[in-house]
Amino acid sequence: MPIVSPTLACADLLNLGSQLNMLAEAGASMVHLDIMDGHYVPNFCFDFNTVGVIAQKYSFTLDVHLMAEHPEQYLEQLQAAGADIVTFHLDATPFAIRLAREIKARGMKAGIALNPSQPVSLLNYVLEEADLILVMGVEPGFSGQTFIPSTLKKVEELAKIRRDKGLSYLIEVDGGIDDVNTPECIKRECDILVSGAFGVFRGRKGVREDFLEYERLIKTAQRQMELSGMEV
Ligand code: ZN
Repeated sequence: MPIVSPTLACADLLNLGSQLNMLAEAGASMVHLDIMDGHYVPNFCFDFNTVGVIAQKYSFTLDVHLMAEHPEQYLEQLQAAGADIVTFHLDATPFAIRLAREIKARGMKAGIALNPSQPVSLLNYVLEEADLILVMGVEPGFSGQTFIPSTLKKVEELAKIRRDKGLSYLIEVDGGIDDVNTPECIKRECDILVSGAFGVFRGRKGVREDFLEYERLIKTAQRQMELSGMEV
């Protein structure tokens, strides 16, 4: 079943500890942490210390999304902090293959992110190195934006290439994920849904209940997809 990766950028930061406790109680297995450098995107978010303190206290898979130039310079700190997945943006480095290999050599999973304007074909020569492909559903840097529909086409393409080439990368969608596009992502074989302001942190019934409710929606969508014989 697809995994929910609640993005902490959308959490109530004044109550981050209790929000994480609620996610743990609800059975969340992963959390998504955006790290920005103020250059690749004009914003800041979390840093390595945040990753480290969460790693010390919780057993979540730490899904770190690096929106930073020169991503290679942060690998040592991310490894020391306890990151499990490190995703960098394809256009943030001219050496994506070397970088993906270095992430894996440090015992972490290597993810590569694609912005909304970038076609899947840009990944042709690096797909085999990736443990995960992150498809941005909005422009990176700010939460709460509306989902860009062509994201779905890219998920579909990535799933097809994965099947055709016998590859095993996971497909993650990040940005603008809501109850309407979630089933569409699942139909196209998305594996990880980054859930934020329109999902787990929508502030309707509290994080625990909103997580459980979102997971029920995923289960239903997955079941419908299986029943329809994976038709898209
Ligand atoms: Zn992200």
